[in-house]
Amino acid sequence: MKKRAEKQAGLQNIKKSLRSVRFTVWIYFAIFIVAILVLIWITFTATFTANYRTQKENTVRSVGEHIVTALYGGGLSGRTIDALGRDNDLCIILQDSYGITLYSYDALGGNCYIHGSGASELAGYRTLADSAADGQYYTEMKNETIDQDTILLVRKVGDVEYPMYVFINTTVEPVAATVSLIRSQMMQISAAMLILGFGISIFLSNLISRPIVRITRSARKLGQGDYNVEFNGSGYTETEQLADTLNFASHEISKVDGMRRDLMANISHDLRTPLTMVKAYAEMIRDLSGDDPVKRAQHLDVIIDESDRLAALVNDILDLTKLENGTGELNLGVIDLHGCIESIMTRYTILAEQKGYTFIVSVPEGMYIRADEIKLEQVLYNLINNAVNYSGEEKTIYVTAVRQGGDIEVAVTDTGEGISKELMPLIFDRYYRAEKSKREVIGTGLGLSIVKQILILHGFEFGVRSEVGTGSTFWFRTQSVEGS
Ligand code: ADP
Repeated sequence: MKKRAEKQAGLQNIKKSLRSVRFTVWIYFAIFIVAILVLIWITFTATFTANYRTQKENTVRSVGEHIVTALYGGGLSGRTIDALGRDNDLCIILQDSYGITLYSYDALGGNCYIHGSGASELAGYRTLADSAADGQYYTEMKNETIDQDTILLVRKVGDVEYPMYVFINTTVEPVAATVSLIRSQMMQISAAMLILGFGISIFLSNLISRPIVRITRSARKLGQGDYNVEFNGSGYTETEQLADTLNFASHEISKVDGMRRDLMANISHDLRTPLTMVKAYAEMIRDLSGDDPVKRAQHLDVIIDESDRLAALVNDILDLTKLENGTGELNLGVIDLHGCIESIMTRYTILAEQKGYTFIVSVPEGMYIRADEIKLEQVLYNLINNAVNYSGEEKTIYVTAVRQGGDIEVAVTDTGEGISKELMPLIFDRYYRAEKSKREVIGTGLGLSIVKQILILHGFEFGVRSEVGTGSTFWFRTQSVEGS
């Protein structure tokens, strides 16, 4: 059983390495080299003989053309014919119409077909050239005397009555020996190329896969919780970009992870405090105040308050989870801002009366927006609660709504400690929470994240304007609509 599992794991590993970048690059490169070699071989074998023949034919024809042109131009000398014959391995004979040889060059010695032919044979070829429309006769045949293929070109030149004839002949040497020589050399070159190519391909595949392997190693560490890991993708633009992205991602993960830890600590603390209170007061009722209706009622009030605290905290967590999961659907309707904010403010009367807070509300009648009422109320509660918590000594909170073109901007302003520029981008983060501070209203560290999620869900613009020591204004803006 164990052996089978080991065997399977081994197979899996082999499969994985076959799919690796390194192996893939190597195999493609190797295939490329082999394909090129095969192509060279096929081309060489299939076309060498034919190419050789064509080459010979072209030489014969172009030398013929050269001589004819020189004859017409009067610039043909014996030296020119000698040079042409010698350089191109050709036999050349120049005859008049009576068969008298005017000039001859023999590059092939005994192997020349025209030099070995009788006068009557040459006369026959002259007739063939005469009867050809373009005045030239070309043939490839076997020279029986030397048992070799030979090429013969006869060209008639000039005068209709007294023309001249150029005979050009060359042998098409058997190429088998040459082919086999070249083949054996090519074998050696191919073997060297294969070895070199395979070596280069292994080097290249290592070079290409190196940054990826490096990044994978770092990613593994990140997966194990090491957020200090550095991704290094140097080598290629793409891997560098990937490494940069991963560095950014790991930085973000580490930030979020830190905040999550803080939040857990804060939430645990916030849960423990009311729980301790609930327990303590319940014990007091049991042991001391159970029979004293006034004290019992006071203690029960504390228990109820603390339970509310717990419920608020748990609700916040649930709300945020729902909003972030996208399950918080909007129940949109037209909201009368004046009425809505007025009803919210009634809840703060006690705070105003007992703790000396001043709430200055400026929301004119006749302002309507389209929103989910319950969620909008939650946004306003969270913003006003924060304003209360951070309003400082002055204890004054402004809630305003103003028209801006076709839009309405709702703002909650406090005259408290303000928020520094560095902290401003962080405060809407899920787990961000200022150092523990004294609060009038319970805060969970989730309030602004809930605000953000709800406003995003509505598609409202929102933000914060703040200055340290002066206070903060949290605002959101949306289109004004007709009241219903
Ligand atoms: P909580 O208020 O429970 O800590 P929030 O998500 O509502 O959680 O706020 C996050 C942080 O933003 C707060 O801890 C505080 O540092 C900062 N903050 C929010 N509102 C204000 C405000 N009106 N004035 C100054 N700081 C604020």
